[in-house]
Amino acid sequence: MTASAERPLVDGFGRRITYVRLSVTDRCDFRCTYCMPLDQSFSPRSEVLTLEELQAVAEAFIARGVTRIRLTGGEPLVRRDVMTLVRAIGRHLGRGLGELTLTTNGSQLARFAQGLFEAGIRRVNVSLDSLDPERFAAITRRGRLAPVLEGIAAAAAAGLRVKINMVALKGLNEDEILPMAAWCAERGFDLTFIETMPLGLVEEDRTDRYLPLTEVRRLLETRYTLVPTPERTGGPARYVRVAETGQKLGFITPLTHNFCESCNRVRVTATGTLFMCLGQEDRVELRDLLRSGGPAALDAALDRAMALKPRGHDFVIERRNAPPAVSRTMSVTGG
Ligand code: SAM
Ligand code: SF4
Repeated sequence: MTASAERPLVDGFGRRITYVRLSVTDRCDFRCTYCMPLDQSFSPRSEVLTLEELQAVAEAFIARGVTRIRLTGGEPLVRRDVMTLVRAIGRHLGRGLGELTLTTNGSQLARFAQGLFEAGIRRVNVSLDSLDPERFAAITRRGRLAPVLEGIAAAAAAGLRVKINMVALKGLNEDEILPMAAWCAERGFDLTFIETMPLGLVEEDRTDRYLPLTEVRRLLETRYTLVPTPERTGGPARYVRVAETGQKLGFITPLTHNFCESCNRVRVTATGTLFMCLGQEDRVELRDLLRSGGPAALDAALDRAMALKPRGHDFVIERRNAPPAVSRTMSVTGG
């Protein structure tokens, strides 16, 4: 019996934790309107885990039966020398780790796609909220569409399976839902729609942009036949197949559908805070433990953390001017 099978991570509700989202930086080259404010402040370098420390955290989880790791941020590909970490974690594939994936805004993907594939990554999630250059610039504020499209093409050419994530934004991109589905289907990309979540303060009131995915689904059904599938990928998305194209569509509906009961994941920020839930404050600080006590201290902390995992989040977005569920943005916790 392997060490991980002997000592799996199981929380107080009997849920086994097998999936970690590891944020490698809280910095980003974009400032998406729903994600972070223009004047977002970032963690000082001394507080950010080194690449070696991030590797140690990943290895501590793998030793306890975590089989999937997703690298995220902020924008993971703006972290200097990030490929050193990707390769180091990638060496555990087939030896405890079943899958290593990445969520990216795609801006740097063209130059990293081949290396990611060589390190063992087979799937990437790319966030793309609009196919219109001006609108893309307006949503991301610092982003340009062309390099992202090049990055997506490079990823596909390198052999990476691409899934597009689109945040559904009322009055901003609802008219692109059908075109985006068609664009993805033509290229063989899966597509997942995400509802805006009340995480951290941004300039606008997210209520104004909240588009329930029930509406997105209704819109898709005007053109396509959606066949529900029981398929899960270890994430919170529910999937359907489009009968006409065979394409897989996902819906992440934290607000209209509570996905917490089957939660198998935790998140680690770039500064080493282990958050037990995206929408709650329960946490364990790993950085100082790791710096003072090494891997043994880290391992013990994982056991303590399991007792803290809450049953679920309680997001509410219906109330206008309601405060965010938690004060940290998604870019800090790691989306
Ligand atoms: N920068 C990378 C990216 O954009 O893919 C990775 C990190 S980003 C925080 C991960 C995902 O979270 C993206 O798909 C983004 O659209 C989504 N996201 C960010 N803030 C969100 C919010 N408040 N509600 C819903 N989704 C959000
Ligand atoms: Fe950056 Fe991703 Fe947040 Fe956009 S969603 S600001 S790309 S971290």
